Amino acid sequence: MAKLPKYYGGKETEKKWQNFWEEEGIFKYDENSDKPVFSIDTPPPTVSGSLHIGHVFSYTQAEIIARFYRMNGYNVFYPFGFDDNGLPTERLVEREKGIKPRDIEREKFNDICLEVSENVENDFKELWQSLGFSTDWDQLYLTIDERSRRISQRSFLDLYEKGYIYKKESPALYCPNCKTTVAQAGTESKTSPSKFVDLKFELENGDDLIISTTRPELLPALVAVFVHPEDEKYSDLIGSKINPPLFDLEVEIKADPKVDMEKGTGAVMCCTFGDTTDVEWFKEHNLALRQVIDENGRMNGLAGKYENLTIKEAREQIIKDLDKEGYITGTRKIEHPVNVHDRCEHEIEYIVKSQWFINIMDHKEEIKKQGEKINWYPEFMKQRYTNWVENLKWDWCISRQRYFGVPFPLWYCSDCEEVILADDEDLPVNPLKDEPNKTCPKCGSNDFVPENDVLDTWATSSVTPQINARWGENDDRMEDIFPMNLRPQAHDIIRTWAFYTIVKSFYHHEEIPWKNAMISGHVLAGKGSKISKSKDNAPSSPQELIDKYSADPVRYWTAGARLGRDAEYSTEVIEDGRKLINKIWNAIKFSIMNLDDFDKKQEGPKNIIDKWILHRLTETIKKATNYLEDYEFGLALSTIEDFFWGEFCDNYIELSKQVFFRGEEDEQLGTQKVLYRVAYDILKMFSPYLPHLTEDLYQRFFSDFEDEISIHIADWPEANEDCINKEINYEMEKILEFVELIRKSKSENNLSLRHPIDKISYECDYEKVDISKAMKQISFLLWIDKVEDDFEPDYTAESENGKLRIKIKWGEK
Ligand SMILES: [Zn+2]
Ligand SMILES: [Zn+2]
Repeated sequence: MAKLPKYYGGKETEKKWQNFWEEEGIFKYDENSDKPVFSIDTPPPTVSGSLHIGHVFSYTQAEIIARFYRMNGYNVFYPFGFDDNGLPTERLVEREKGIKPRDIEREKFNDICLEVSENVENDFKELWQSLGFSTDWDQLYLTIDERSRRISQRSFLDLYEKGYIYKKESPALYCPNCKTTVAQAGTESKTSPSKFVDLKFELENGDDLIISTTRPELLPALVAVFVHPEDEKYSDLIGSKINPPLFDLEVEIKADPKVDMEKGTGAVMCCTFGDTTDVEWFKEHNLALRQVIDENGRMNGLAGKYENLTIKEAREQIIKDLDKEGYITGTRKIEHPVNVHDRCEHEIEYIVKSQWFINIMDHKEEIKKQGEKINWYPEFMKQRYTNWVENLKWDWCISRQRYFGVPFPLWYCSDCEEVILADDEDLPVNPLKDEPNKTCPKCGSNDFVPENDVLDTWATSSVTPQINARWGENDDRMEDIFPMNLRPQAHDIIRTWAFYTIVKSFYHHEEIPWKNAMISGHVLAGKGSKISKSKDNAPSSPQELIDKYSADPVRYWTAGARLGRDAEYSTEVIEDGRKLINKIWNAIKFSIMNLDDFDKKQEGPKNIIDKWILHRLTETIKKATNYLEDYEFGLALSTIEDFFWGEFCDNYIELSKQVFFRGEEDEQLGTQKVLYRVAYDILKMFSPYLPHLTEDLYQRFFSDFEDEISIHIADWPEANEDCINKEINYEMEKILEFVELIRKSKSENNLSLRHPIDKISYECDYEKVDISKAMKQISFLLWIDKVEDDFEPDYTAESENGKLRIKIKWGEK
């Protein structure tokens, strides 16, 4: 039988087993298996540049769960995808290649996007492989690949048919920097310094009315002035006209309860559009439209002499002019929240455009209820979803004025403007290149114009369950995979990815997309600051970490976190992972040494120590399994570790040495039986966390006794109720207290643990505890020569509660 080398091989060994798993197809999803399916809707990472350790963190946590379910007899469907369509890839191309999409042909630009994203995808794949991910790479998809485009367009057609989609000239959130409309979920609130300016407006009777604003550049966009209906100082003015300074405009003073009477003078400007309230008033009060900002973020002709200035330039110039003309009565600096685009942090504007929308507002209650049908881990994350749905103010705008994305599957009739939808069998279509295969059903025309916009990225990444299940394809497997079992993702994308996916599944199938959502936290670079690529504050790249420590210790760090909580990056925890690996190596090495002539048919347990460790093993398996079923990988790991270090290594192995070195043959066989079982179950419990080390040890020894070609498809340890023995456990706890008392006595006398004890006597007041049952093993472990009553002690000690008392006569070293 193979003797273990002194040290574990680390990185080279890891490579070896990664290749083995790949060659043997250990992690393949089996379409023909009778086993129950456990399907995972793995987040397709955005292909937008380098990887950071935040990626490693949450993806590894989900990977641990995949391994756990595989060992529990499931046919695990664990795919990977890459979200390579949309704005992040365009930005990456602009950054890496210095090419702007407007500068070249759209087709060419898209080719470059594909090329650049492919490079990034290879890096990602290499990283996941070097971390030992048990992914089935045959299931790989890209959100821009042909099948994804087809399913995304199919999703559009289905929603259109079901009446959830409409096109409308409507105010939409707009990023002048990226020159595209964005969804509410694509915006973030940011505090920004600004200036409140008090301006003189002129009433019909020639009097002044002071109105404060942070956006004087929107004066040419003024469509009304609002006051509160119960504000007595203005009640006579409601319905009368008012003129702003500088611009030749006249608007009506209107009343609305949304006005905050305490803010400024209680009279506010309503423009096209300064904020969400302006949009609401525009709709509710049927106001005129005076759009002064164009799609490039510059002032248009309505702004008069300010035409062509940027928003910021116009604001400065208008303030200067207002001041010169004496219209400003005061200014105050303030900090206020502004809405910014989450991809570029530029301030969001509002623009009126003809756009496609998915109706959300009419179905908020049902969408909220869908969230309640999903099990959220940790549970409080459900509230984040609910809050998001409750606070939504907009339908989902899915039109994007970008280049690299999934096209809308439609054209417009040039003669009557009828919408011509593509047929399902023609998908995916590119309306810029393809023609409809029919004439206009309304007027018979043959002349069409394509829809130029592309779909919002989320319109495609919200159908990842359907992409995985090949919805509507020839090899449709919705029956087997959908709804999926698990969506693992980080908490910041509940409002986007989780939300949109739930909406789509509900509208398409009246079903939840997955039964369980496992929500992870973020990695923090230091106190409270999230690691992000824009801040470039990651302490190290994932590949550097793996090169330095190998994969298993890095995985150990990711598993130490509590589910849903942010965690700090810590090299100490990675070092702890290394220590654990060494300890496991040495403990298994000791076990193998003493299992030289082992035969599985041997019988055990025989002595109290063997019975006790089986009891504790069973309890550990139960507890760790329960935690893992709740996706609490971190609590499961610490349960397994506590058992391994404290009970198996510190006590069981130590006390069993006497049996192996001096014991009777019959007792040895019994302890061998138990040692094999416990050591193997420990390895199996660690295997989702430390897949390389555990595979290595399995192949070096345990595989000779077991049927599976890899530990990762062996059965998860079984909690055998027959091994539960509360009386033995109680008795052993007290015996271990006795062992501790002797260990402490030695250390209090500055003696090593191997310092001989010539004589010892003890008294035990615990009922039903017989220390003599383990005295042979204790004597061997603690170098005790004789147990005797009558001698002159060098030292006496008692346990804290006084129930154990010992007298010792030290021996000679
Ligand atoms: Zn932007
Ligand atoms: Zn027509």
